[in-house]
Amino acid sequence: MSNDLLTSLNAMRSYFASGATRSYAFRKQQLLALKKAVADYEQEIYDALYADLKKSPEEAWITENGFLLNEINYTIKWLSAWMEPEKKSTNLLNLPSSSYVVKEPLGVVLIIGPWNYPLQLLFMPLVGAIAAGNCVVLKPSEFAPATAAVMQKIIEAVFTKEYVLYVPGDGAAVIPAMMNNFSFDHVFYTGSTAVGKLIYKMAAERLVPVTLELGGKSPCVVMADASIKVAANRIVITKFSNAGQMCVAPDYILVHTSVKEKLVEAMKKKILQFFTEQPINSDEYGKIINEKQFNRLLSYLSNGTILHGGDNDINRLYMGPALLGNVTVDSAIMQEEIFGPILPVIGYNTKEEALAIINRNPNPLAFYIFSSNDKEARKWVENVPSGAACINNASWHVTNHHLPFGGRGFSGTGRYHGKYSFDTFSHEKAVLKTPTWFDPAMKYPPFKGKLKLFKKFI
Ligand code: NAD
Repeated sequence: MSNDLLTSLNAMRSYFASGATRSYAFRKQQLLALKKAVADYEQEIYDALYADLKKSPEEAWITENGFLLNEINYTIKWLSAWMEPEKKSTNLLNLPSSSYVVKEPLGVVLIIGPWNYPLQLLFMPLVGAIAAGNCVVLKPSEFAPATAAVMQKIIEAVFTKEYVLYVPGDGAAVIPAMMNNFSFDHVFYTGSTAVGKLIYKMAAERLVPVTLELGGKSPCVVMADASIKVAANRIVITKFSNAGQMCVAPDYILVHTSVKEKLVEAMKKKILQFFTEQPINSDEYGKIINEKQFNRLLSYLSNGTILHGGDNDINRLYMGPALLGNVTVDSAIMQEEIFGPILPVIGYNTKEEALAIINRNPNPLAFYIFSSNDKEARKWVENVPSGAACINNASWHVTNHHLPFGGRGFSGTGRYHGKYSFDTFSHEKAVLKTPTWFDPAMKYPPFKGKLKLFKKFI
């Protein structure tokens, strides 16, 4: 790591130690400044997201800047309440002490973002980290360069470098350099499981706590009794939004064979309705981030029979929404997260059969079940361990800031959004306060003969 970067990180440590970031007034002021900057740079944000991913302003508002502003407003509204010490009861043994939990900032934290929702996924955790009173190092993904450049402008216009430091560049070089030479107080990482493992290892060397927001194959089950029209609507919009480059997109469909044809036909209709006959020219349809991802996705198209779409053009990084049939569970597309606009549709006859397929990639980030039988749907949710789940919906759980967002096992560890973000970036310190007027002799040696008494109180 360059001496300059190490000097900057040490300056952040000193700034945090000065206590400057702790007061409610300071935190609120920073959140308001961030909010203003995100609004001021609105057009530049749209232009950048279009350049990187061909996102429309409407899609950007729902999934990036509007989503973020909603989080900032919610956090500002509740921040003072969240910062209050939480009174706890005191057990008999410790009476007449009083007990409470204080929420302390962690210190200097590192937030690492991916490229698919480059603004939202870097700045949402930033909101939690600021709210909790920390200093923050932000590392954007190098694969969404236009958005990374606008975010740099915003951060450098709003915050001092000792408070929020923006570190762009090649993640494989800059992140190990920082993590191996400086002890962060927390690392919050969003990205692939493969890189997540590297981050976890580096953090373990210095016993740095982590939040890992990873990916995985999120299954979507459509039962025979599901409303097919509604299922098709909700699956198609979330699977093909951002050209399928969404961590919580339905990765593949398991549909009861009795309604498979019907679902495929309904999804085809919806694809045409939402993205037209030529998605390549549709304002509603995005592009693949780069050639490497494009070629990976292209290879999947031969893993089955194309039921719909699949047209593509590498020069425009375009791949149309594709439905894929005749996919075997051993094919490459079923081994790893697809993260693109290809949707395998697999028929099942029994629940056991479907569960066996799901269990080949355990602990997905999300699980979706479409059924009109509420009891049965809840049973499915219970039977599939996952970060989150939706019944008769897909991906929208993410947009409710009252719900925790995060994975389990291979899809990650920890959670955030709303109050959960504040908690993630705070340490819950237990405090016991004991008066001096009461100090019974039974607490002190000699203990001989006090066993009966101890059994009563302890
Ligand atoms: P990625 O792992 O390639 O990159 C993420 C970050 O890691 C980037 O900032 C990059 O610079 C850094 N990085 C890359 N190589 C590194 C290395 N060797 N050492 C240290 N840092 C390195 O991930 P991605 O391709 O940007 O994102 C796609 C993945 O992220 C998918 O698996 C997706 O499911 C997942 N994802 C998860 C969530 C979530 O909230 N759970 C959200 C979006 C994406």
